[in-house]
Amino acid sequence: MSEKVHWWHGILARSLMAVAGIALLMGGVSSLLVNQVVGERAHGQAVLKLGELLDTVESTVSIAAFVGDAQLAKEVAQGLLRNSEVMQVTIRSNERELVRAARGPLRVGDDSRAVRRPLYSPFKADEVIGEISLAAEQTSIDALVAKDVWFTGWLMAIQLALVIAAATAAMLFLVVRPIKETSDRLHRLDAASGERLAVPESHAKSELGRLVGDINNLTARLVATIGIESALLRQQVIDQRKYRDLFDKAAAGIFVADRDGRLESFNRAFAALTWLPRRKETTGRWLAEAGWQEPERLLALVRDALADPTGKATRADDFLLVGRRGDERWLHVAATPLGDGSVQGTLTDVTKRRNEEISARRLATTDALTGFANRAGLQHTLAEITPHTPPFALVMLDLDGFKRINDAMGFAVGDQLLILVAGRIRKVLDARDQVARVGGDEFALALVGEQSRVALDARVGQLLRVLAEPYDVSVAGKHDQIDIAASAGIAFFPADGHDLQELLRSAELALNSVQAAGGRNFGYFEPAQQVAVEHRHRIEDDLRHALGAGELHLVFQPIIDLSNGRLAGAEALLRWSHPARGVVMPDVFIPLAEELGLIDEIGLMVLRETCRHVATWRNAGLDIYVSVNVSVRQIPDGLPPGAVVGLLEQYGLPSNAIALEITEGVLMNNVVAAQTWIEQLRADGIRIYLDDFGTGYSSLSYLKRFPLDTVKIDKSFIRDMSADNSDRTLVDAIVTMAGSLGLNVIAEGVENTAQFDILRQIGCGYGQGYLFSRPVKGEDFAQVAAHINAALVAGWR
Ligand code: C2E
Ligand code: CA
Ligand code: CA
Repeated sequence: MSEKVHWWHGILARSLMAVAGIALLMGGVSSLLVNQVVGERAHGQAVLKLGELLDTVESTVSIAAFVGDAQLAKEVAQGLLRNSEVMQVTIRSNERELVRAARGPLRVGDDSRAVRRPLYSPFKADEVIGEISLAAEQTSIDALVAKDVWFTGWLMAIQLALVIAAATAAMLFLVVRPIKETSDRLHRLDAASGERLAVPESHAKSELGRLVGDINNLTARLVATIGIESALLRQQVIDQRKYRDLFDKAAAGIFVADRDGRLESFNRAFAALTWLPRRKETTGRWLAEAGWQEPERLLALVRDALADPTGKATRADDFLLVGRRGDERWLHVAATPLGDGSVQGTLTDVTKRRNEEISARRLATTDALTGFANRAGLQHTLAEITPHTPPFALVMLDLDGFKRINDAMGFAVGDQLLILVAGRIRKVLDARDQVARVGGDEFALALVGEQSRVALDARVGQLLRVLAEPYDVSVAGKHDQIDIAASAGIAFFPADGHDLQELLRSAELALNSVQAAGGRNFGYFEPAQQVAVEHRHRIEDDLRHALGAGELHLVFQPIIDLSNGRLAGAEALLRWSHPARGVVMPDVFIPLAEELGLIDEIGLMVLRETCRHVATWRNAGLDIYVSVNVSVRQIPDGLPPGAVVGLLEQYGLPSNAIALEITEGVLMNNVVAAQTWIEQLRADGIRIYLDDFGTGYSSLSYLKRFPLDTVKIDKSFIRDMSADNSDRTLVDAIVTMAGSLGLNVIAEGVENTAQFDILRQIGCGYGQGYLFSRPVKGEDFAQVAAHINAALVAGWR
């Protein structure tokens, strides 16, 4: 705080001195002015007086001058000198000086300050005959002046003194005192406690008031700023203490380390989690000191975090820690760069999660029923097959007719059986052998040990014998015996496959040939089987290419109205003109197309081509419809009803210009979706035929449940109809039943007139077969159609 203000430095002293100085200066200047003015005025008054005196003697003096009477002049002069203001009198005529008289010594020549007046002739008013001059009495004038000056001087001095006193008092009270008071108060002010300066009385609107206001504002702001600052400081201290506490007591391990893993700091949890050897000092310790299994990977993580271009990314991974006693702990380490070349890391114990993951993986790789590995498990254990893996034999085992037992006796019995089978397999295996259940009743065995065919013949032969023994199961609480045999296919590593996939495929091929030959046996993979597979692969590739290359085309087989022998319609059948193999039949490539996912695209192409042909024929006056085969796989999404309707519209065809042939498989597969699909198409006026009736389940319920139009009786029934009476009866029954349900019937595969006759006797509505026509190319169809109709006209049999 500033020291005391001495009075002579004070505003009061200064202003008083200023006022006094100004007063003195003003006093001096005004005295001079007064002196001058008063002098002038006194002189003026003297001249006036002298003028008045002259007026009284003027006529007398004129006579004296006219006659040159010096005596008279002298008397007048004497008279004038009796006036105290007159100092000297001179009267002259034109000719001479009549008199010069003075009070006291005569002053010659100094007439400058004298009052002169010309004297005129008493007879002629404009003739100057002389002059009279009076000189004033200077000392009396001066005395008068001095008196005046003194008086005025005193007056002014008193006035000034009064003004100064008043001004000083006013300043003292109005300005200086409030300033001094304010200054003193400010000096003692305790702003922090909220004290503020009072605005001096009646200074609310003066500069002083504003100054006080400004000071108060400034003070308030200062106090506020200081308050915030100190609060921050306090918070910082608290925070630091709190974070230190958090850091120390956190359950997660926390550390700060540089790129080489030198620890700058770490908390207790870090030390505890990493089993860091106890030592007093925390400096000079290293991240890698702990028993990490892969310290290099951990350091790489730290460096990777530091190398991140954003400088913010967190790198994290799990690391295994192995304690001195061999106990293991998984720690999740997350490292985030701090921006100063070091990382901050956290550690959490994830051992539990890792163990859960491991057990989950084990679950996912284990077959719950048998406890064997499942396919994924087998993949896992055999994943690391390398050329250096010792040879082994992969045996693919399958129970013959297991499905039949499962269907007939229920899953519970099937499961019992599988458990028993697994038990028997386990007994035959060596400790080093691997086994997995890779399908419902399929087991894959990796047999190590002696790899000769003789040895394997013995082992697998024994296995099949053991498995062929009767099984005791309980069926609905009662004991029962099941007889079931197994088949096996064997492939060798590395001869028959370099990885599990190939080996499984080879063993499966061997198994397939065994089963094709009746099962209850085992066989080895033969390259010829592989050749068949490769052949298939080649066809697959070719088929993929065929679609784009335009190698697929349609043929059309007429459908005949048996009541009158007229052409009713046709069925579109697909052909593949393979550049090397010639014409490939649909039975061969349609299943392939289904497997390869090509069937949707092919199906749409067939429908489009059909529409194109039908449109051409209809335009040429051939009023027929064509039915198109639809694969199970196309329904419902591969051939949306909207797409069918769209194509019909595109070719300007009515909805009865085509029909769709589906098989019972469609109706069994996804009942709800199939029903919706059929109903939508029916709603659009498109007819649905049930193809190959009699080969599948031929359930009557389908015919009732689904809104079908026509049933196509499979050609196998028609073929045997003439020879086998039961088939004739069956066809008869189907026709009758269909009739009762309001369905049309088409007999497929009508090859001879005998069949034709029977069908007509039975009352079958329509027929299709080589007897009428083989499937023909689109461009030949019109001619064939004409021939059929002509034949009718000619009296068809
Ligand atoms: P499907 O629908 O039962 O077709 C009738 C099959 O019987 C045709 O064989 C036809 O050529 C043959 N056939 C006709 N008349 C006689 C006869 O009098 N005697 C004998 N033994 N057979 C006769 P294809 O053309 O080989 O077709 C076989 C199967 O391929 C068809 O059976 C059908 O299921 C399927 N298929 C054909 N084209 C297509 C198609 O465009 N799409 C789909 N998804 N499947 C098709
Ligand atoms: Ca068909
Ligand atoms: Ca058929």
